[in-house]
Amino acid sequence: MGAPHLKTLSELAAGLRAREFSSVELARMFLERIERAQGTLNAFISVTRAQALTDAALADRALAAGTGGALTGVPIAHKDLFCTRGVRTTCGSRMLDNFVAPYDATVVANLRRAGAVMLGKTNMDEFAMGSSNETSYYGPVRNPWNPALVPGGSSGGSAAAVAARLVPGATATDTGGSIRQPAALTGITGLKPTYGRVSRYGMVAFASSLDQGGVLAASAADAALMLREMAGFDPNDSTSVDTPVPDYVAELAQPLNGLRIGVLKEFFDTGLDRDNEQRVREALEVYTGLGAELREVSLPNLPLSVPAYYVVAPAECSSNLARYDGVRFGHRCEQPRDLQDLYRRSRGEGFGAEVKRRIMTGTYVLSAGYYDAYYLKAQRVRQLIAADFARAFESVDVLMGPTTPTPAFALGAKTADPITMYLNDIYTIGANLAGLPAVSIPCGFVAALPVGLQIVGPHFGEARILAAAHAFQRATDWHLRVPEGYA
Ligand code: GLN
Repeated sequence: MGAPHLKTLSELAAGLRAREFSSVELARMFLERIERAQGTLNAFISVTRAQALTDAALADRALAAGTGGALTGVPIAHKDLFCTRGVRTTCGSRMLDNFVAPYDATVVANLRRAGAVMLGKTNMDEFAMGSSNETSYYGPVRNPWNPALVPGGSSGGSAAAVAARLVPGATATDTGGSIRQPAALTGITGLKPTYGRVSRYGMVAFASSLDQGGVLAASAADAALMLREMAGFDPNDSTSVDTPVPDYVAELAQPLNGLRIGVLKEFFDTGLDRDNEQRVREALEVYTGLGAELREVSLPNLPLSVPAYYVVAPAECSSNLARYDGVRFGHRCEQPRDLQDLYRRSRGEGFGAEVKRRIMTGTYVLSAGYYDAYYLKAQRVRQLIAADFARAFESVDVLMGPTTPTPAFALGAKTADPITMYLNDIYTIGANLAGLPAVSIPCGFVAALPVGLQIVGPHFGEARILAAAHAFQRATDWHLRVPEGYA
């Protein structure tokens, strides 16, 4: 079979159609890689071997009959907050340790319809709250570039799995950076679509006005292929937008010549590691070499994005997580004395420390007397940030800057101080507050650790940012680097 784990999603799909290898062979090979890496990386919460092999056999039959879709027989993984019928969905929490959804999330159903074969559910920060994948009930995920370091979060399991080539692509979600930040820290491509582009139906809710499903893959071309199959209007999600899904793969060829790139001034502030900055500036030079034009752009309200987000997101989380009460589903404490005791102990036992911190903050900022001072104020700041972006897109086509202030950090380095942890999201949160699409691509290394370049586009500008990312990946080979031991 050669080394199919190093092939792109479209090469795998083509190889399957040409019968170079079967879907069952591919599933076996990737499952073996997953099992071999699990002890070191802990990237998966569930590995669905039996179902994967059954689905792969069905895919082989479809391929033989010539009836497959764009991804028929291609193995993928889902972040463990996408509901999967019959397979447990934990959201990285003890609260949902025993939860088996009776239905598939729309993203899961769409990828299944395209023929993809799920190999398992990936580890994540509890309820997607975190930037390092250390808040999971199932233990931390480790970075394949160096297992003493975090892979980023909250989609750290999906990111580590793709970076170590345990799967060629995986779903993920991004509320404040959880696709782009782990993509940067593990040297892969992560795409967060426009809010409303991908259905949230069946995605366990964290902060509903910010959550958006997306893709982690080895390259922009692979992300384009997965997005095309995942995206689309869904009547089950009232925030999903009814606008046609472009053929993102066909649009990758858009020429770069004359592309106006806005370089985000506020992203090159004092918090940015100097070596990281150097790699990002070198990436910008690659773009000028490809015919793009750079302009400095200022988004004056952007520095307020972290405080605004850490009011809005906990507020929405406190409301969304009120449903876990030990009555309807999820964890229930043993032998409750009365109803209050049932609520208190079920929630007390089911949620971890970070989730409790968010629920308490969120309840506080929504409470009478504090609502205007915190929640309403944060919503106003959010509008100002969105307006900054809208103004910037009047004069440039895309915005670029770093994805994170530093490369991957050590496990435990930031767990003692939540504010230090929250500051990891300083460059990613703006796109969520404004609902914009953004992609992170690898653009070099600092001390053998990958660094990410972030490209933000206007609403529904996925094709444009993917084409810009693809042009960079045709000119460079950072996205082809695989951590030692996983090549
Ligand atoms: N790190 C951010 C948080 O902890 C973002 C998480 C996410 O995007 N899901 O909320």
